[in-house]
Amino acid sequence: MSEFDYDLIVIGAGSGGTRTARISASYGAKTLVVEGDRAGGTCVLRGCVPKKLLVYASQFSEQVSDAEGFCWQINNFKSNWTDLIKKKNKELDRLHEIYVNLIKNSGCDLISGWGKVIGPNKVSIKKNDGEVLEFSSKKIMIAVGGESSFPDFNGNQFMINSDQALDLNKLPKSIAIYGSGYIAVEFAGIFNGFGVDTHLIFRANDALRGFDTDLRQHLMTSMKQKGITIHNNNTISEIEKNKESCKITLSSGQQLSVDMVMGATGRVPKISGLGLKKVGVQLGQRGEILVNKLNQTNIKSIYAIGDVTDKITLTPVAIAEGHAFADREFGGIKRFISYENVPSAVFSQPSIAVVGLNYEEAKKQNINAREYKSEFRALKNTISGNLERTLMKLVVDQDTQKVIGAHMIGPDAAEIIQGVAIAIKAGALKSDFDSTIGIHPSAAEEFVTMRS
Ligand code: FAD
Repeated sequence: MSEFDYDLIVIGAGSGGTRTARISASYGAKTLVVEGDRAGGTCVLRGCVPKKLLVYASQFSEQVSDAEGFCWQINNFKSNWTDLIKKKNKELDRLHEIYVNLIKNSGCDLISGWGKVIGPNKVSIKKNDGEVLEFSSKKIMIAVGGESSFPDFNGNQFMINSDQALDLNKLPKSIAIYGSGYIAVEFAGIFNGFGVDTHLIFRANDALRGFDTDLRQHLMTSMKQKGITIHNNNTISEIEKNKESCKITLSSGQQLSVDMVMGATGRVPKISGLGLKKVGVQLGQRGEILVNKLNQTNIKSIYAIGDVTDKITLTPVAIAEGHAFADREFGGIKRFISYENVPSAVFSQPSIAVVGLNYEEAKKQNINAREYKSEFRALKNTISGNLERTLMKLVVDQDTQKVIGAHMIGPDAAEIIQGVAIAIKAGALKSDFDSTIGIHPSAAEEFVTMRS
């Protein structure tokens, strides 16, 4: 008989927590999963999946215009937002059920309620009906993710966040989005595609800090061409709300009146109510749980993965961390994930995907880097009349001839970069790219034909 109720209690059934629990249970660990909201978590219910469905939906307006360029006659083309949101929610319900089944069918117990750590080996659960349960466990995994956070200014309570933006009953006629990260630019594309008068407000000169400068500028140009109004070098000083609209005062003094304001100004670890300080779990400045290589906190029996550790806040990273944890702790396999060359995408319009270092980052690391660039108008856009252009870049370490970065803005960037990421991970040289025969005609072939 074990001295604990469980071998593992996982708090949070999102991407990372679900994978941790399933794999641990598959190795025979007696596992309990605690979820306060709905199994599936941010990615499935409030992030990647619903967002990408709305990105797809919003792209049809441009595709219809492209089709007209190809001499299709299209009459009476209009969208029905309310029906779309219903259909999207039905799909999310289906995915949520799949998550519940994944957890239960792998042999884990699942309890609906909010978990709190009340000791190095003890968790309490407040169920929705108010009942409080307590269980002991040899190990505790915290996989509670993150939540959106707004800067402090007058009227910030009038902003909606991305959770709410994904679930609007009705589309506004106009919207201002505050922020310059990937969520801000993605939602700007979504609303603009549905014909909403869209404004993007942010402090920097270009959105997407940390990405390649040329890609950032390219995105700004494309967004403006598609009709989004960019208010860069600006912050919001105040929002006043009346019955009909929100009046925004910008730091430049300019005023803007819109139906709705969305805040996409960052996300922070969701640690409130978890009891971590009382138990003595060390946190970083942003409230992130500090972990070592084993994803272990300073309290040896307590671990954390995913967004709550604020490392690389992406679904595949949370999943990989959870899987590696289960392998190490219950499967006897000493496996660690690498945080190098993690590819990522921004589903802006046009989309962006990158892997590895950009030229500026390489130079900062004193790498003798050279960049190769190709900018062109895709074949489809010659006849469609669409002004959108594609930009692709490779960064090469001239001393080793290794390709150390690939960057793209244009259609299907994520699909293309995922393949290039394998080559970069495998240490491919520029000569390997050059000796690969291209697929013609495609945009992807540019990655194997870049000479200057
Ligand atoms: P989550 O998936 O957030 O899961 C945490 C779970 O814990 C939640 O279900 C929550 O309800 C639960 N929970 C919290 N506190 C408690 C508690 N005390 N007790 C019990 N349960 C609790 N990533 C990508 O890779 N690609 C994308 O395109 C992408 N798009 C995104 C778009 C948006 C709008 C957002 C917000 C995020 C997006 N992300 C994307 C990020 C991605 O969603 C996260 O990186 C991922 O979900 C992190 O997984 P996680 O397991 O750490 O946490």
